Amino acid sequence: MLVAIGRRPVTAGLNLEKIGVEVDDKGRIVIDSEFNTSVKNIKCIGDVTFGPMLAHKAEEEGIAAVEYIHSGVGHVNYKAIPSVVYTHPEVAWVGKTEEDCKAEKIDYKVGTFPMVANSRAKTNNDTDGLVKVIIEASTEKILGVHIIASAAGDMLAEGVLAMEYGATAEDVARTCHAHPTVSEAVKEAAMDAYSQREPSLLTVLTHCTIAADRLHVALVSSDQLLRCLFRPYRLPVMLLPFYKITFNARVMAAGWCANRGRASPASSNRD
Ligand SMILES: Cc1cc2nc3c(=O)[nH]c(=O)nc-3n(C[C@H](O)[C@H](O)[C@H](O)COP(=O)(O)OP(=O)(O)OC[C@H]3O[C@@H](n4cnc5c(N)ncnc54)[C@H](O)[C@@H]3O)c2cc1C
Repeated sequence: MLVAIGRRPVTAGLNLEKIGVEVDDKGRIVIDSEFNTSVKNIKCIGDVTFGPMLAHKAEEEGIAAVEYIHSGVGHVNYKAIPSVVYTHPEVAWVGKTEEDCKAEKIDYKVGTFPMVANSRAKTNNDTDGLVKVIIEASTEKILGVHIIASAAGDMLAEGVLAMEYGATAEDVARTCHAHPTVSEAVKEAAMDAYSQREPSLLTVLTHCTIAADRLHVALVSSDQLLRCLFRPYRLPVMLLPFYKITFNARVMAAGWCANRGRASPASSNRD
């Protein structure tokens, strides 16, 4: 078994003090937000300075440092640096934990989804783990994503992207995900997080129309079946006006959304 815990910058013996490069009490080279050390024209990135000791963090910093030199502008979002433990299943996370939220007194909500309920994980016979999405209660912005799953490192990329763009749980939940894929578990966890709020009139209407759609399909199918078996039974036909009413409700909801300048979930691009 290889135990590889703890890494540290090895700056002793480099004679940094002779050229005036400042080092902190942990041996890390001190830099400012533009990767400048205390010596003009010497920049520093990666493991030897602050932040997580990860290859992709060093890579982002390297690019940003060159951009600062080239154009005077660079960017690394330290709140969205992913971490992955490459075990089986993998463990991957980005952003805040529940403990962080409690310590920072952030009002938060949590959505989860177990991999055992994900169709692709079931087909792959690889159902260990879950997805957890942590969101800010007031804005529903995603604060953290935590995944245990065989493909957690790859699944996490969606959470990192969502955080980079300041997405809410609803943004992720309303994004179409291919089926069957493990990424659907991220969507479901996001849906679980944001669905804990009080439902709006639009949400209620949308769910009513979806339910009516399903009822209609069921009635039409059963009508066809019953017509064969039992001709006078025409209840589904009698209920058709009900479906028409819900259809009108959907049109009204779409109009209401358009007036508010929002995209209607009931009238997506498929219309
Ligand atoms: C066993 C192990 C596994 C890891 N696995 C992962 C992982 O799965 N994912 C991940 O993101 N990160 C991983 N890391 C961390 C990752 O390797 C580092 O975060 C990353 O390489 C840091 O990049 P860097 O450019 O800051 O430093 P480095 O990649 O260490 O580059 C520093 C370079 O400077 C050179 N150098 C040092 N001293 C001198 C000197 N005096 N003069 C001239 N040259 C010098 C070194 O030879 C080296 O080439 C792992 C690290 C280890 C040790």
